[in-house]
Amino acid sequence: MLAAAMLAPSGIMQAQEVGSCNCFCVIAGRNTTIDGSVLMAHNEDDSGEMMLNMYVVPRAEQRNKYLWAEFPGTSDCDHFLNEWGVAIASDGCPSREDRDDLTDGGVLYETRLTVAQQARTAREAVKIIGHLVETRGYKASGRTYVIADTHEGWICSVVRGRHWVAKRIADDEVMVLPNNYIIDEVNLADTLNYYGASDIVSYAQQCGWYSPETDGRFSFKKAYCDPKYYTYEHNVIRQLCAQQYLTGKTLEPDPNTFPFAVKPNRKIGIADLIQIMQCHGENSEHKFVYKRERPWNHPVGICTDVTVLSAIFQLRANMPREVGCVMWVCAGRPCTEPYHPWYLGITESPSCWHRYNTAEEAIGRHFSDVENKRINYPDAIYWQSVDRWANYATDWYNRIDSVQQRRDSLQNQLFERHAKFEKILKRFFNPNTQEAKHRDALENLLNAYIAGQYRGKTNVVPDESLPPGHIRVSCD
Ligand SMILES: [Zn+2]
Repeated sequence: MLAAAMLAPSGIMQAQEVGSCNCFCVIAGRNTTIDGSVLMAHNEDDSGEMMLNMYVVPRAEQRNKYLWAEFPGTSDCDHFLNEWGVAIASDGCPSREDRDDLTDGGVLYETRLTVAQQARTAREAVKIIGHLVETRGYKASGRTYVIADTHEGWICSVVRGRHWVAKRIADDEVMVLPNNYIIDEVNLADTLNYYGASDIVSYAQQCGWYSPETDGRFSFKKAYCDPKYYTYEHNVIRQLCAQQYLTGKTLEPDPNTFPFAVKPNRKIGIADLIQIMQCHGENSEHKFVYKRERPWNHPVGICTDVTVLSAIFQLRANMPREVGCVMWVCAGRPCTEPYHPWYLGITESPSCWHRYNTAEEAIGRHFSDVENKRINYPDAIYWQSVDRWANYATDWYNRIDSVQQRRDSLQNQLFERHAKFEKILKRFFNPNTQEAKHRDALENLLNAYIAGQYRGKTNVVPDESLPPGHIRVSCD
């Protein structure tokens, strides 16, 4: 069906021939960022009735505490940030493999969940995924897990069956991942930067996907990627736009020439990642102006008409993880919604953000309570962003400027209040040892801060007239 004749003159595949986009990710090494954090930004792209819930899952035996961004009923959409500062999400990356090789039904959702519950570092998370894939088999076509902690970022590409490879993002580089494999060379002897299945090259040879005689050196992306996704216009241009934004250089739209990661031309921060995640190709000649068979009118770029969550994980090593690790949550399309900061140290999420009173119930019913979500849970705050989007999307091109003015104003207020709040937080840890102080008061303060943001009440201040450890929280 996807003959070479469908290639556009530029050599890249026209969008409508392939299918939808399924997420986008950027990971910035700690030496590329203004505050020395590892930054990981991820757009979650899905259609259908998607409902975002946010839970704090408490620590239990054999289980870390974690923040959980949940989409009920889905196997490959949830985001996690655990108490060790390990964040995980994923991008769908179709492979060439069409043969199943599974034990006990194989793994899919279990991979990210096990990472959230067990991993203490991003590197350990990669090993957990590799072990699950090798012992049980992966049951979907292909995927790349994106993982970061306060020290480093990794991507781990898995293939249907028992094949996988993972690569570390260098501290001075930024990686950009659309919906195709991007790991090129593989050197499993370099265990600082790579892990993978030991037969990753020989299996590709066996399948006829790689030949040393005709192809030269081995490239994972060329051998294992579904070829139509490798040249898919939407993937190529999204990767190009982000790399151009980071480097200031003009690139050719050819996936063979894109590096795995780039050195940015300045230090970057949260605001830069927002610019990338809300991009519709404005910084390239390839504006995504085509329309799909949908009732609305929105250019499909890195921000798409099906982006249901955009998250930026800010992972700082020079503070206690409770306050050093922040998940910035944009509940919908990043071109119209602001990002709110959620600290890892919270012990409860605001009630408007979850369906059940306990995280245990949510875990138990993740795959069973999936019908009629809007009818059954009408009070969830997420529907407000869904309705805002439905409203904007009726006339996006004419309304986007005024919508973005209001959004920018709100985002700037959130940044300003956040900067003030971070000064207050300094009272709650020792800067030399990074040890947290007055933990109970700190948890109350963080809970009130996040709840206040969604009530429009953000003057959360500790009462300085009280002695340390007895800090009263006001969020009225
Ligand atoms: Zn948009």
